[in-house]
This record gives sequence, C-alpha cells and structure tokens, in this order.
Amino acid sequence: LSLSLQAKMSRPVQARRLEGIDKNVWVEFVKLAATYSTVNLGQGFPDFPPPDFLKEAFVRALSGENHMLHQYTRAFGHPPLVKILAQYFGKLLGRDLDPMTNVMVTVGAYQALFCCFQAFVDEGDEVIIIEPFFDCYEPMVKMAGGMPVFVPLRPKAPKDGKLMSSADWQLDPAELASKFSERTKAIVLNSPNNPLGKVFSRGELELIADLCVKHDVLCISDEVYEWLVYDGKEHIRIASLQGMWDRTVIIGSAGKTFSATGWKVGWTVGPNRLLQHLRTVHQNSVYHCATVAQEAVAQGFQRELELYGKPESYFIQLPKELQQKRDWLVQSLDAVGMKPIVPEGTYFLVADISEFKSDVPDVPDSDEPYDSRFAKWMVKNKGLAAIPLSAFYCGAHKNNYNHFIRFCFAKEEATLKAANDILQKWKLEKTSP
Ligand code: PMP
Repeated sequence: LSLSLQAKMSRPVQARRLEGIDKNVWVEFVKLAATYSTVNLGQGFPDFPPPDFLKEAFVRALSGENHMLHQYTRAFGHPPLVKILAQYFGKLLGRDLDPMTNVMVTVGAYQALFCCFQAFVDEGDEVIIIEPFFDCYEPMVKMAGGMPVFVPLRPKAPKDGKLMSSADWQLDPAELASKFSERTKAIVLNSPNNPLGKVFSRGELELIADLCVKHDVLCISDEVYEWLVYDGKEHIRIASLQGMWDRTVIIGSAGKTFSATGWKVGWTVGPNRLLQHLRTVHQNSVYHCATVAQEAVAQGFQRELELYGKPESYFIQLPKELQQKRDWLVQSLDAVGMKPIVPEGTYFLVADISEFKSDVPDVPDSDEPYDSRFAKWMVKNKGLAAIPLSAFYCGAHKNNYNHFIRFCFAKEEATLKAANDILQKWKLEKTSP
C-alpha cells in the first residue's frame, strides 16, 4: 500500500512554460453557451452550411476511386492544395510562388500561428500585439518563451449622431513606434481584425511596415478574414508593401474562407527563408494534416480561381451575404440602445452595453471585468450568448475596455431574428415599470 502511495509524484508535474496560461475564454464561454443559450452569437462559426461545391468535393474525395486519399499525404501540404494556393496567392500578390517552399498547410490557422511563434521566438524576445487581439496570441508567445508587448487601438469619438465604426479605432503612431526596440522579434497583425472587424487602411499598414523594416522585425499576418470585407473596402496584404515580403508570414484558414470551421484546414504563405523554419516545427509536432479535407479545399480553390472576380465566386458572394447580416444586427442593436461599432469586415460586431448596466449591477472590487460578468448574466438570464471584449485584452488592460461585448453575425436569418426578439423583449421590460 505504502509503495502505491509513494508512486504518486510529489514534484510539480506542470512545465514552467504553462504557468498562468491555463484559462481560456472559449472553453469557458462555449460551455456556458451550450448550457444556457437559446441563441448563440458567441464563438465565431457560421450556423449556415458551407457551399455545395465544397461539400460535394469532400464527398468525392471521401468515396471516390482514389482510396489513397485516406492515407498520409505530403507532410507540408497535400500537393494539389499547395499548388492551387501558390497559384491563387501568387495572383493576389503579383509574384511567382513555389508550392513546395512558399506554402505550408496547417491544422487551421491556430497551428499556423503556433508554428510561427515556436519557429521565430526565442527566450526573452519581444512580440508586439495590437489590442484588442485574438486571444491565443498572448499564451502562444509566452509558451515560446517570448514577452508579449501590447499596443492598443484607441477609439476616437464618432461624428455627432453617427454610429462608431471599427475604423474609428486607430493606432497612435508615436505609441506604436515606442514599442519597437532591438528586443522586438515580431509583430502580429490581424487585419481584418477579430474582435472589432477593423480593416487596416493602407496608411496604417505602411506605418507598421516602415517600423518592421527600420527595426528588422518579422510580421505574422493573420488574414483569416481576408475575404470578409464590406462596403467596398479593400483588404490590403501587408506582404505586398515595400520590404515586407521577405519578413512576413501570411496566415489563412479554409474554415473562414469556405464557412467550414470544423475542417481545420489552414495555411501559411511566405518566403522560404521563413517557411523553412515553420516546416521544422510542423514536422516535429503535427507532421501532416487530414488528406481528404485538403483535397476538398484544393478543389474549392480551383473553382474560385476559375471564377476569380466573377459574381458567382464564393469570395464575392459570401461577403455580400454577411454584409446584409451585419446590417440587420447593427439595426437590432441600435434600436434597443446597445450601441454597435459598425465593423468593416469579419464575422464580428462589438457593441456598447452601458445602457444595460442597470440590469446587471457592478460588483465592487471583483477581479472579473464587468463585461465578462455581464455576458455570463446575459446567457443565463436572457439565453443570448456573446463574448466579453475584455477577453481580447491582456491581463493589465482588461478593465480599460470593459463595457463592450462581441457578437458573431455569421448566422442564419432565423438566428439573427431570434436574437432581435430577445433584445426587443429585454428593452421593453427595461422601459415598462
Ligand atoms: N485567427 C483569428 C483572428 C481567428 O479569429 C481564428 C478563429 N476564430 C483563428 C485564427 C483560428 O482559425 P482556425 O479555425 O482556422 O484554426
């Protein structure tokens, strides 16, 4: 008996690099939404199906003649997929891309990000992250031994009577410049930005690019929402700016591109001098990604290349549909006084909850930011799930922007109507004595 007791380890089992990164907003809020929500505008995934051409390609890959599609494929990307990605992105970037060295397929954009931090960040290196940010950047930098350095987008008041736009959230050029030093190894750029939906302008990208070149810094450019840009805005790839190709890794996701987030197919595009190190991480961790899904995504891109710029292209149709959904949600929220910040891109919309604060009184001295308690209260009491904006800020800045929540509008009309009903009813209850 005593021997079996002794067999329990008494020394710490957790590696030091995991310290302080055990909490995860998605694990917490996905569970809450599953337990309480009737309408889930929380996590970012569509509740409408992917396009038929994509589903059909998957079925063909799965049950067609070529049974080798059930086996391992090339570690750094299924050849048909890297070939078509090289062609497609080559066209977008106006440069010849080699499918074998300039493209690598990953298990979603998540693994692409993980490969970048593991490949480029050494103990003590600084990585600049623009707030608000997709939350995994911070723990991934820390896990690689790096030091995240945060710089916020600062909101400017909109013109009288106008709704705020994600474009009103801007970097302060002097503040951004002050974060670059000889310790800076990389900056993470996410345009279009999750959670605000901000699409960085050419001027803003040039500012970042000039600092990267001046300080010899890499750019990890998370462009998973590249097609989801509204109101005729243009998504500009920072890799296309002067001096940036050689120092940028572009990250994309078939999940967002083709409304199939569960497939977990992502990619990186960049110069071989950077991608060779991503391959080292990849071959020593995941090694290779699901073949059937890669085959289907390759066929999806093949179709899109043939329909490039045409009205039937999914990359043209999807943003049109999403822009309409955005407009519905903007109207619903505006009508009840949950002031929306109109996003220029992405699946997401951030709204100001100040006018609803009386329903969810503040708990003085609570460690938890107000918006987080508000979002939990809302899912439990109203059945509507959203994500607190503070989840997209580092620990020290969580309370700076704690009266906003993020909604995902990549949803069926019926889901958005149901959300509208909840908000309308809530508003009525508030105003009637
Ligand atoms: N980057 C951003 C900005 C995202 O919003 C997401 C998904 N929510 C990812 C990366 C991860 O994408 P994937 O599902 O392809 O891993």
